Amino acid sequence: MGHESRIGVREDEAGGTRLWRLFGLGTRSNDRHRHGNSRITERARLLEDITEFLLRHDLPVSPDNLLRAHAIMTKSNLRLANKVIEREEAGEPVTQSWLDQQITGSDTTDTTSSNLDRLARELDRSMERFGESTRSAQEAASDYGAQLAQQTEMVANSTSEEDVVASLAQVARAMLDRTREMEAQMKKSDEEARDLRRNLAKARRDATIDHLTNLPNRRAFEDVFKSEWMAAQAEMEPLCLALCDIDFFKAVNDTHGHDTGDRVIRAVAQALDRISDSCHVARHGGEEFVLLFRGLDLAGASAALDAARERFAARHFVDKVSGKAIGGVTFSGGLTDVFAHPDLSSALRSADEALYRAKEAGRNRVEVA
Ligand code: GH3
Ligand code: MG
Ligand code: MG
Repeated sequence: MGHESRIGVREDEAGGTRLWRLFGLGTRSNDRHRHGNSRITERARLLEDITEFLLRHDLPVSPDNLLRAHAIMTKSNLRLANKVIEREEAGEPVTQSWLDQQITGSDTTDTTSSNLDRLARELDRSMERFGESTRSAQEAASDYGAQLAQQTEMVANSTSEEDVVASLAQVARAMLDRTREMEAQMKKSDEEARDLRRNLAKARRDATIDHLTNLPNRRAFEDVFKSEWMAAQAEMEPLCLALCDIDFFKAVNDTHGHDTGDRVIRAVAQALDRISDSCHVARHGGEEFVLLFRGLDLAGASAALDAARERFAARHFVDKVSGKAIGGVTFSGGLTDVFAHPDLSSALRSADEALYRAKEAGRNRVEVA
């Protein structure tokens, strides 16, 4: 395998050169001489590394793979980059199904942050265009002012009535033209501003929502946790935190495929989200969820979570694509009293320890810290 992939690299390098020509960049070494611009060279190298990675592992050039290859090459997803390095060093192939298996909840955040980067760049460009159209509207207004002053001067110096009328007509025409021009500019600016607001609202939504389950993501949960902590403290209400993790989920993926696994994650998300109004649920990553019970003590939160666990465990799932029975799916939970801890991370640690005990004790149960 190692030897073959070496040969693959050489062939791919030739392909890479063709790609440069296609982009009008010449060969890689020419490019450095010609541009002498390190930013262009850096980007060109990143493109070449991404191309080389996909070709070396014989991976389709799909939007998902390009995103992943980008995350690996730039190390923006360090976890995935390290896994790929480990795999390459072990001489094992990086296949499409292996790559698909690596997608976890934290990757959702990575994609979200790269989406955010893209939107931030788009916003920057929109701001630039907005500035430009405002500037040209201002220029049009000052041109108009200058022309008006000139025409007024002419009217004042005119001797005949005809000259005065002609000058006035000219002033009126100039005013009309300039007003129309300014109207068009301002309309364009207004549209740009509206786009900006829409982009901004979307970026805000994207930053807080997990797109597989539509639940808040871990980042959003951290904000909710802070505000719930303060509100519960002020109202002297109890606050409990739980971590839930699907049992033997790897087997669901292995037997029924990743897409079915995704649907199972969505089903658990919905079941947890329906527990009650006093329960806030977020996807913590992968097949793990975090829950915050406000106004319920440990006994109350444990009873609510355990009832949801039991209802879910009683269901039977069928893979809607293959028609094959998945059977029962269960999850385990670990619960802790938030106010027994100084901060979120130690409360999470405690819930995680309780969850570990639930797994050790045979799964499909809720353990209290
Ligand atoms: P346990 O009962 O101990 O929790 O066993 P498990 O098999 O559930 O635990 P493990 O951590 O070994 O496996 C979790 C798997 O979940 C590994 C990962 O590939 C998969 N996974 C994580 N995120 C996603 C996702 O978004 N979709 C799918 N389909 N699978 C995911
Ligand atoms: Mg897990
Ligand atoms: Mg699990």
